[in-house]
Amino acid sequence: MSRILIVEDEESIAELEKDYLELSGFEVEIETDGSRGLLRALKEDFDLFILDLMLPGTDGFEICKQVRAMKNTPILMVSAKKDDIDKIRGLGLGADDYITKPFSPSELVARVKAHLARYERLIGSGMPENEIIEIRGLKIDKTARRVYINGEEKNFTTKEFDLLTFLAQNPNHVFTKDELFREIWDMESVGDIATVTVHIKKIREKLEYNTARPQYIETIWGVGYRFKM
Ligand code: CA
Repeated sequence: MSRILIVEDEESIAELEKDYLELSGFEVEIETDGSRGLLRALKEDFDLFILDLMLPGTDGFEICKQVRAMKNTPILMVSAKKDDIDKIRGLGLGADDYITKPFSPSELVARVKAHLARYERLIGSGMPENEIIEIRGLKIDKTARRVYINGEEKNFTTKEFDLLTFLAQNPNHVFTKDELFREIWDMESVGDIATVTVHIKKIREKLEYNTARPQYIETIWGVGYRFKM
């Protein structure tokens, strides 16, 4: 059963919303104080949040912002003023929907159902999210083995990709060329530590704006390389 948290200080409205949602088979909790609502929203497992905008304690803007920073749970914002809705949209707080008071309870129920269904499709699709490393303008999608720099995809060979990923996964750690060679190339590989130098050079040409002043992989003279965090 889906659990919904309503944060609303006007109890009659909250109770009305609760009644209708319960009739539709949802489990509903009410918080009338914004700060307590935020705390519960962050700590407990809910499937959807309905947030009033003007609340004692923490307001709906702040709750939305903080919850969205931590969770992907659908958020419906409720407000008495149309202007506020425009404001929330403008702030890009990550709410999924907006309803202006007064609204019909059946409209609220319909929207709740739609958002829950969409969210369940999203999380229930069974595909785990790609493992991604993001550092400044660099994005490494480990699952898809793709590299993007400022949103633009760059082609990496297998070894270049492995070397970059290994360094990025261990930032601020200096590795000798010897260590890198052993890590990325298997023991039987023909080659030597000069191979590492060549690969670093190629990686830099793809990543760096100015290869003379590398932003990502630093050369530690006489020792090896380090990925700058
Ligand atoms: Ca209110």
